[in-house]
Amino acid sequence: MGSVTADAILDRFRRVGAFLEGHFRLTSGLHSPGYMQSALVLQHPAEAQACGEAIADGVRGLGVQVVLSPALGGIVIGHEVGRALGHRAIFAERQDGRLALRRGFQLVEGEHVLVVEDVVTTGGSTRETIDVARAAGATVVGAASIIDRSGGQQGLDVPYFALVPISLPTYQPEACPLCAQGIPVIKPGSRT
Ligand SMILES: [Zn+2]
Repeated sequence: MGSVTADAILDRFRRVGAFLEGHFRLTSGLHSPGYMQSALVLQHPAEAQACGEAIADGVRGLGVQVVLSPALGGIVIGHEVGRALGHRAIFAERQDGRLALRRGFQLVEGEHVLVVEDVVTTGGSTRETIDVARAAGATVVGAASIIDRSGGQQGLDVPYFALVPISLPTYQPEACPLCAQGIPVIKPGSRT
């Protein structure tokens, strides 16, 4: 599936209505005129599989032994990357506001972890997931996502691979021109 190009994936996002335009409050707290609702693409197993295989192709040289994703957004794509690489895929989830391994998930000392997300904006949740792996004694060999909307500013200290780099502005809420225009901000969630 190395034939899956960034343009093809972005086109797929547009066609299923997963590339939303308006005024959004992102998970990071930043505001943006664009939102990538990857769940609308990943709900189609064949699409999720294709994205997983394309990411796997991009990280094959890293010596990955296990995939770790932050819940909920990273679970489906993490699972598909794990399938494509032939390794298990586990996830971290929030407990009292902090990401943690639950459900009996464990990492072995020195195990080679790839952190996989659907969308990277500031890199904050990726960094937090990397911290979870390191705290468990594992070695993080890389990070990957379907969409990179960080504009190269994710600041990760491991090799990072994204299928689709896309430039979308983000604003601090107090400096958001859309807020200044009085446009209501939408927190994407169950309704979008
Ligand atoms: Zn705003």
